[in-house]
Amino acid sequence: MNKSTVAAISTAQGEGGIGVIRISGDKALEIADKIFISPSNKKPSQMKGYTAAFGRVVDDEGAVDEAVLLVFRAPHSYTGEDVAELSCHGGIYLTKRVLRAALQAGASPAEPGEFTKRAFLNGKIDLTEAESVIDLITAKSKSAARAALCVKEGAVRKKINLVKENLLTVTAHLSAWADYPEEDIAEVTDDMIFEPCSKAKAVLENLLSTYDSGQAVKRGIDTVIAGKPNVGKSTLMNLLSGCEKSIVTDIPGTTRDIVEETVLAGDVILRLSDTAGLRDTQDAVEKIGVDKAKKRLEQCSLLLAVFDNSRELDEEDKKLIKTASDLPCIAVINKTDLPNSADISYISDNISNIVYISASNGDGRNELISAIEKLAGTTGLNPSEGILSNERQRLAVSNALGSITEALSALSSGMTYDAVTVSLEDAISELMELTGEKTSDEVIDRVFHNFCVGK
Ligand code: GDP
Repeated sequence: MNKSTVAAISTAQGEGGIGVIRISGDKALEIADKIFISPSNKKPSQMKGYTAAFGRVVDDEGAVDEAVLLVFRAPHSYTGEDVAELSCHGGIYLTKRVLRAALQAGASPAEPGEFTKRAFLNGKIDLTEAESVIDLITAKSKSAARAALCVKEGAVRKKINLVKENLLTVTAHLSAWADYPEEDIAEVTDDMIFEPCSKAKAVLENLLSTYDSGQAVKRGIDTVIAGKPNVGKSTLMNLLSGCEKSIVTDIPGTTRDIVEETVLAGDVILRLSDTAGLRDTQDAVEKIGVDKAKKRLEQCSLLLAVFDNSRELDEEDKKLIKTASDLPCIAVINKTDLPNSADISYISDNISNIVYISASNGDGRNELISAIEKLAGTTGLNPSEGILSNERQRLAVSNALGSITEALSALSSGMTYDAVTVSLEDAISELMELTGEKTSDEVIDRVFHNFCVGK
């Protein structure tokens, strides 16, 4: 780790009320001394941690801006190092010039995610907490933000550490007993291994079980709205997105390309695609749209299959019902404000989730959202339990679980304790990889590669 003092603009690049330039490292306050002058002439390096001063930022051309300086003293800062944060006016030119002043005074430009990386390397946070910083910044819903905050506050770290400590206790017993058989060490029994391993297994299984629904809350679900022409797909798209996103007409074949929108349905982010009405057509452009719709259908994670309550089901409806039966799907019976002609029992025989709506007047919207939340598994999701953030974390937990399962089956099939120890050590090292206690530089670089500069 380069121990130079680094600086970056930590607020978004754009015009705003305030722009923050963060300087972190051994020389942070020395650098602040050179570029910040307060009316009392008290130097930043003479200020205590957690104190602020009003003053001016200066460079070799003179005054740059007024600013508030915040001083943090190691280890009581975000990075664990000495930190000076300058809050100046949030202009694009001004923040860049203040940053330049800091660089001229001796700071190096911070790499993407370098402040958080330093926090990790200085032991302020583990890797799961570091990754939650991105999740917090990019959260698009209350649940996503809450889930990320719980992880930032250690919900996953504490669980993983507990599992790891339990496994370490078991392996320590096993090694002591194997290495010093002549010493007065309590004999290891199967029960001493079985119970903590089973508990560890249950905790990891639980973490894995909420991964998919956690992803639905955080990243959203690829959702396709499909159905034959004129059933009300575009009207449904507009109802869910709360704006006129798709063109609504009574002329079949209006939506020819895929119209996309990200919407929040209760706790779930839906990446919605409104597709061309499914039908055989001679129109070359509409045909491309229908083919695209069919392809999108095959890839989606959730299908909202729309049917017109006021018309009898036809071959196109039946084809869609057939496709839908292989996919996570909700049958949306639309136009319930009109008299029923569609054979609902035919639909319910093939698709178990059915919701009745009138997309044009909004009836049934809440029922549809509840059905989506139920299918996405977010209804019972408890963020404070700790939700795994990404594929890296999921894989580590899944590998650790695999190794514990191996250890347990080695135990029950009467294999030597050596075999059990090897599997448990594998599990421990996966968990240490997850939290970053034992991780290659390559993995760490990959984690922080996803950050932007200033975080
Ligand atoms: P799409 O071709 O499947 O996208 O269907 P549209 O959303 O364009 O709607 C086709 C026609 O059905 C339009 O005239 C809509 O106003 C009408 N429509 C859509 N939803 C409803 C509904 O819930 N009730 C009634 N009565 N008409 C609807």
